[in-house]
Amino acid sequence: MSEVTSPLPLPAFKGSTVRVSVMDAGHLVAPSAIFVQSPKPGHDTVDVPTYSFLVENERVGKKVLFELGIMKAWKEKLPHLVSMVQSVGGTINVTEDVPDKLNAASVSLSSINFAIWSHHHPDHTGDLTLFPTSTSLIVGPGFKSHPSTYPGQPLGPNAETLHEAFEGREVIELDFGSSASTPKIAGLRAIDWFDDGSFYLLEAPGHTADHIMALARTSADKFVLLAGDGAHHCGEIRPTPLTPLPDTISPSPFEPPTSASSCPSSLFQSIHPSPEPFRITPFYEVAAHHIDDPVARRATLDAVKAFDASPDVLVVLTHDASLLDVLEFFPKAGLVGWEKQPSRKDMGRWRFLQDFRKGVLKE
Ligand SMILES: [Zn+2]
Ligand SMILES: [Zn+2]
Repeated sequence: MSEVTSPLPLPAFKGSTVRVSVMDAGHLVAPSAIFVQSPKPGHDTVDVPTYSFLVENERVGKKVLFELGIMKAWKEKLPHLVSMVQSVGGTINVTEDVPDKLNAASVSLSSINFAIWSHHHPDHTGDLTLFPTSTSLIVGPGFKSHPSTYPGQPLGPNAETLHEAFEGREVIELDFGSSASTPKIAGLRAIDWFDDGSFYLLEAPGHTADHIMALARTSADKFVLLAGDGAHHCGEIRPTPLTPLPDTISPSPFEPPTSASSCPSSLFQSIHPSPEPFRITPFYEVAAHHIDDPVARRATLDAVKAFDASPDVLVVLTHDASLLDVLEFFPKAGLVGWEKQPSRKDMGRWRFLQDFRKGVLKE
């Protein structure tokens, strides 16, 4: 694997890191066209996770959940999600709420100081009513003044949220500021959440107005980008000029990620939308209905690509099915030490190409 280099400046180490674990918090199964434009032959359906991340800063003794997955009671509580899923011929599989997973690992819900929603869509917001009201909710800019987000149902007739999630709870809407001195990372305005360089929240609109991402420092110079719906499929962010598709892909996306396997990247040329230069152009564009603001969305996507091209950052999209057999899941702190051999970034980089199996392997 050729080493990818990037000039992306990342924040300086201030002595603190966070422990980051990932949970598989429910699956969406639906036609691929709900995620991407012009799905490749054979990539007819998606079965994607919706991840939730436990972020622990042991120095300050605080715990954060970034993303809450899908609530187990979605059929009873979220009629708009039921009708949306039915209208596209999809389904949702969720057997446990995030609190069930935390309880099973003896992590008390009262120890969770902050729940952070990347945005207000119901596949990211879980069931906050299961948490004590001492868990504050963090939301992105404009959340409290937009009829689709606040107040929630039934107080807000056009809201996609439930107001019971907010009742008795501190709801903190982020203000990223607008002065020239506002810090930026990859061009996105940033808040140093614990004020110690361990966990940054990033303003990342475009998919929705309130969309944010998080950059978590897992070691002195290594980070994980919790990218939310900044992209929905890795084919939107790879390949690029900074992350070109190599002649030989190893491990092969069709073999186990730890295998000493390989396959030629020329296999994928025939299904690429622009055969020349297919090695530096992403395979997919997101489906149009996922774009709230095209200009903002492009800036957010460019930032995700820049993080992805950095050898110091592992990018995890909330719906990235290609990492399901690459990452270690909660209660392991599976995102700490991702750079150690075998590097999870190297194992996972081209794994999304397995979605094109039927289109390229004439089986
Ligand atoms: Zn979304
Ligand atoms: Zn989503």
